[in-house]
Amino acid sequence: MDLRPFVRDVPDFPRKGVVFKDITPLLAHPRALAESVRRLAGRVLRPEAVVAIESRGFVFGTGLALEWGVPLVPARKFGKLPGRTVREVYSLEYGEDTLEIHADALRPGQPVVIVDDVLATGGTAAATVRLVEQLEAKAMALLFLVELLGLGGRERLASYPVEVLLELPVTTP
Ligand code: AMP
Repeated sequence: MDLRPFVRDVPDFPRKGVVFKDITPLLAHPRALAESVRRLAGRVLRPEAVVAIESRGFVFGTGLALEWGVPLVPARKFGKLPGRTVREVYSLEYGEDTLEIHADALRPGQPVVIVDDVLATGGTAAATVRLVEQLEAKAMALLFLVELLGLGGRERLASYPVEVLLELPVTTP
């Protein structure tokens, strides 16, 4: 099954000059969604937890956690988690943002897989690796539905196995 037709290019979203990779067609197609989760799960050994990045990572993270029968740990934007957290600040094109996970969500030495929908510059995923490592858990691998080629994301995560289902060029609107 070719998953490519289920990722739609939306030019000039969320701002001019960006081509947004919209996964809602995939979400609307149960067979394609199930197939993408199955394929992601097949790329790595079963971890002991899945760390999913807000917010589209939650979709694939939930599927993977159910498939593997392991805990799902949400990495959330600052201020959303109610318990004690660890934090990491990361740079965006304009300014910075903060991700958090609950301080008791992972234990030292626990092997985890990190998941998101799109790998672009890798800044978000690298911050999530640092969160995992703050808790002394072990980032075994990172999984993405889409890798945008040429933005340096894979290079930035070079010390970790990175698995993606679709490698797509960065297009201009
Ligand atoms: P980055 O930190 O640059 O790797 O960006 C990754 C995060 O931004 C992920 O959570 C993606 O969902 C989102 N993202 C970045 N670029 C795009 C894009 N062109 N289309 C859809 N999502 C994107």
